[in-house]
Amino acid sequence: MSIPDIIIAVDGYSSTGKSTFAKLVASEFAFLYLDSGAMYRGVTLAGLEAGVIGDGKIDEAGTVRVMEPLDLHFRRVDGTTQLFLGDRCIEKEIRGWEVSQYVSPVSAVPAIRAWVDDKLHAFAAGGRVIMDGRDIGTTVFPDAQLKIFMTADEGVRARRRYDELVLKGEKTTLEEVAANLRDRDYRDSHRPNSPLRQAEDAYVLDNTHMTLHEELVWILGLLQGKFNILDSPGLSC
Ligand code: C5P
Repeated sequence: MSIPDIIIAVDGYSSTGKSTFAKLVASEFAFLYLDSGAMYRGVTLAGLEAGVIGDGKIDEAGTVRVMEPLDLHFRRVDGTTQLFLGDRCIEKEIRGWEVSQYVSPVSAVPAIRAWVDDKLHAFAAGGRVIMDGRDIGTTVFPDAQLKIFMTADEGVRARRRYDELVLKGEKTTLEEVAANLRDRDYRDSHRPNSPLRQAEDAYVLDNTHMTLHEELVWILGLLQGKFNILDSPGLSC
């Protein structure tokens, strides 16, 4: 199916399945997938390792100093997009529990947001990109040709995230995970700088009771309607 070289912005609450959905859309329609949250997680990991983040505190100026020379970038590995710090793949470390505890306040620092936004624009310069995050359709790419805002029932989101962490061998409880999601959603929606909110022209995808296949069929219909595409491809999922 001939989908034009557009930018698709996917925003929404924590653990609504944005990255799973965006990765699938990317592989189905040959788009580049970029995970903006991974960048904030990468900065947070670097801060933790440098000792400017830890013990419940964030040295904001110190984190900015650590961040500025960082070579954070995405690489394609075995068909997936992964985050690298120099030559080190940090995909696994950035998804850990400790990074999740600090990433929201770190991402609220204006200098950190500006640095990440510059990088995201550079990575997406070639176009045909699907990017997920919290402010992609409102701040990073306000002119994105397709904006999606994802949401799902809080209990369902907590369970999905908890199962994911347990599979990775992390020791946590469903209550802790639910509290972390609530905390991040609150902070992300209430910060003064680029808060999480639904863009006026975004299409809402509530996937509480949807399978991935149904999500794919949903976006396919949207793309066909929006871009007057008549042919209908078979979907792989
Ligand atoms: O998407 P993910 O949960 O990995 O993002 C981690 C955190 O990064 C979010 O909780 C949010 O605080 C921050 N973030 C953001 N803006 C984005 C993407 C992520 O503030 N565009």
